[in-house]
Amino acid sequence: MAALDAHLAAALARIDSRHERRRLAATALHGGGRVARGGATLIDFSSNDYLGLATHPLLAARAAEWGAHHGTGAGASRLVTGTLDAHLALEAKIAAFKGTEAALLFPSGWHCNAAVLAALLKVAPDALLFTDRLIHASLHAGAAGRRQIRFRHNDLDHLGMLLDEHRDAPGPRLIVTESVFSMDGDRADIAALSRLARAHDAFLYVDEAHATGVLGPQGRGLSAAHPGAVDLVMGTFSKALGGFGAYVAGAQALIDYLVNACGGFIFSTAPPPTMLGAIDAALELVPRMDAARATLAAHGDHLRARLAAAGIDTAGSTTQIVPAIVGEAADALALADALVAEGLLAAAIRPPTVPPGTSRLRLALRATHATDDIDRLADAIVARTPR
Ligand SMILES: *Cc1c(COP(=O)(O)O)cnc(C)c1O
Repeated sequence: MAALDAHLAAALARIDSRHERRRLAATALHGGGRVARGGATLIDFSSNDYLGLATHPLLAARAAEWGAHHGTGAGASRLVTGTLDAHLALEAKIAAFKGTEAALLFPSGWHCNAAVLAALLKVAPDALLFTDRLIHASLHAGAAGRRQIRFRHNDLDHLGMLLDEHRDAPGPRLIVTESVFSMDGDRADIAALSRLARAHDAFLYVDEAHATGVLGPQGRGLSAAHPGAVDLVMGTFSKALGGFGAYVAGAQALIDYLVNACGGFIFSTAPPPTMLGAIDAALELVPRMDAARATLAAHGDHLRARLAAAGIDTAGSTTQIVPAIVGEAADALALADALVAEGLLAAAIRPPTVPPGTSRLRLALRATHATDDIDRLADAIVARTPR
């Protein structure tokens, strides 16, 4: 019997042999779509700071102001003494932003999905969980080992078939998907999903991590265009909103249930005032950023057109996330390395994050990029793509 250390070393060796070893690299976000890494300034196509808010002075100022006024820590969980007026006021603002009755803050999107989905499944041991094949790792954590009935990515005919197949099973139905998929940059059809959910009396749970701030009316997410269509919307403040933290928005009864039954809410210290200040400032700015959203959408269209002209597959992307599918993990890594040498930072995404054979560069655009930045990126990728 080997000690755990030997198992850890063997596991790392297996990861190395698959070219899947990951390492941390210190990186500083700068304005204008730039980052600094290892003494170099790179044009950044990797971060999710889509609107450039992570370096916006209003967010930094309000985070500092709320920290100075309320302290840097909430001191306890929400149900003990951790709830400030600021939490309640911000939750009311989030509900208004999403067009729902109520909302609840969580420490991060990962924490939120893992805790909330698990809490919902807990209501019924015979609940049926229907999930898109490409849902985020945090939702798998929330599924907590429950059987998932997985439908082909964004294939609502397949979802309909699976719902029909299970028509006679007892137990509540949950459908879990994302409005914008983090690795493919494509969108779910919220209206059609909602019709299907209603027809089968299913609860619809939509992760808007990548749509919040970017898509939908005033950047309020794709579900905001369809009031009442989605039962639970979650999203994060860590991407387009330039800060940290997450929310769940929905009916008051849903939020009341989570306050009383969601372990990840009950047993975790309340989000700190600094974090709330940044979120408050972002929610003030985001609805007025239609011009930035239009620029971002135009950047996406331009990049897809350039890549398609060179025969490069961009999957089903229609958003600010544009995958350039390469295939093998080692090739994706080599391409990413070559781009860094040209001052361009684009993340190579490999299994297990994406299915084998679909390793890619995940190109995340920012409203603060110049069109010339997009062209430099496209030129560099196209020049290195075998024809
Ligand atoms: C990033 C992401 C999360 C996690 O959000 P964090 O706030 O970064 O923890 C959840 N769901 C999806 C789809 C994401 O892309």
